[in-house]
Amino acid sequence: MLIERPPFLYRLLFKGTHWRFHTEEKCVYLTFDDGPVPEVTLWVLDLLDKYGIKAMFFCVADNVRKYPEIYQQVIARGHKVGNHTFHHLQGWKMDTETYLQDVKQAAELIDSSYFRPPHGHLRFPQLQALKKRYKVIMWDVVTRDYSRLMTAEQVFCNVKKYTRNGSVIVFHDSLKAEKKMKEALPKSIEWLLQQGYTFKLIE
Ligand SMILES: [Zn+2]
Repeated sequence: MLIERPPFLYRLLFKGTHWRFHTEEKCVYLTFDDGPVPEVTLWVLDLLDKYGIKAMFFCVADNVRKYPEIYQQVIARGHKVGNHTFHHLQGWKMDTETYLQDVKQAAELIDSSYFRPPHGHLRFPQLQALKKRYKVIMWDVVTRDYSRLMTAEQVFCNVKKYTRNGSVIVFHDSLKAEKKMKEALPKSIEWLLQQGYTFKLIE
């Protein structure tokens, strides 16, 4: 519970960031972290196309460097991209200058005004600096598709249990999450549609 839906007090530490979009409308915002990687991202793109869903992909710039053609496909197929640092750094472990330099290096490859900190970790000065340049997007539901402790069924259950109007939901287009995500994402989309949710793209 503490992980899947970050608690209110934790959210307060990151003032001015976006965890959920408050709306009466039955809608959700799908996001994908840690790509692009050919084995997983292309599969996600095909699935989203099948449903006509647009999403936001928070890319690790080192992957963009390795797979520029996959990155271009994400954009060409109507999705949005966000900066997720160059080397997937954890803010708490880094001094602010090094961290911001890594984000800046990532911005040379990822043209975006959106940022998501890896692991949701940021020091206060890092956040203050990033907010000047980016809309910082956190999440309302993390599916934990990356976790060795979860089965695909549990990942799907997290979506069912924690999604509410305006939720920002995180899946991972990464090799680590691949197996569980490929099973849980289609089930989640079907379930969300059955519940009457529409899929919106973060503006
Ligand atoms: Zn990440």
